[in-house]
Amino acid sequence: MFRQVGRNRIELVQGDITRQQVDAIVNAANSALAGGGGVDGAIHQAAGPSILEETRRRYPEGCPTGSAVATRAGRLSAKYLFHAVGPIWRGGTSGEDELLRSTISACLDLAEAYSCESVAFPAISTGAYRYPLDLAAQATLETISARLAASENLKLVRMVLFGEGAYGQFSRVLESLALTDVSNFREGGAVGSDVDSTPKRPLPSE
Ligand code: ADP
Repeated sequence: MFRQVGRNRIELVQGDITRQQVDAIVNAANSALAGGGGVDGAIHQAAGPSILEETRRRYPEGCPTGSAVATRAGRLSAKYLFHAVGPIWRGGTSGEDELLRSTISACLDLAEAYSCESVAFPAISTGAYRYPLDLAAQATLETISARLAASENLKLVRMVLFGEGAYGQFSRVLESLALTDVSNFREGGAVGSDVDSTPKRPLPSE
């Protein structure tokens, strides 16, 4: 499924993120950028050893939770990999919501900095880091849609969900979001012949 956000689009698909044809693929990394299991393992496996060489050389300190760093994408068809470190779920009172939103935002900052038109995300933190899927979907999709509404370069964010459970949860949340379609609006008000700008008054009672 997809939803339009202004001129841009959020798409949900079920599948394997390593097979996506997009400018940048987001990896759910750990803060040591050391490689791991889950989506991280699949991405390193598909992209090849040049990625770990690059993270060791360029980011020897790793990457703090709530942020992301970029590398090339090795054998993947994308141009870049964004290694993003989401929070470990500790019950919800340790700043997880803010940290997850910050992780997603950091990836969108990188997408802008690298002039990407399309980015694919996995459901960050929802595997080994045990973030509940419904809450992760809310934080992730709200952050993405807010940014996409105002984005010039970035046209497509594709969430690649692994399995029906994740796809179902993300779909429910995406359907429920109140998205502002800004495509008919410019600074100073509405434009376009299909937009009725007459002020609405209550009809006089007869
Ligand atoms: P984290 O440590 O951030 O929780 P995981 O890799 O354990 O990261 O899981 C994040 C999400 O990625 C989970 O929902 C998991 O099912 C999913 N996932 C695992 N492999 C892939 C893949 N090849 N493509 C897309 N998503 C994947």
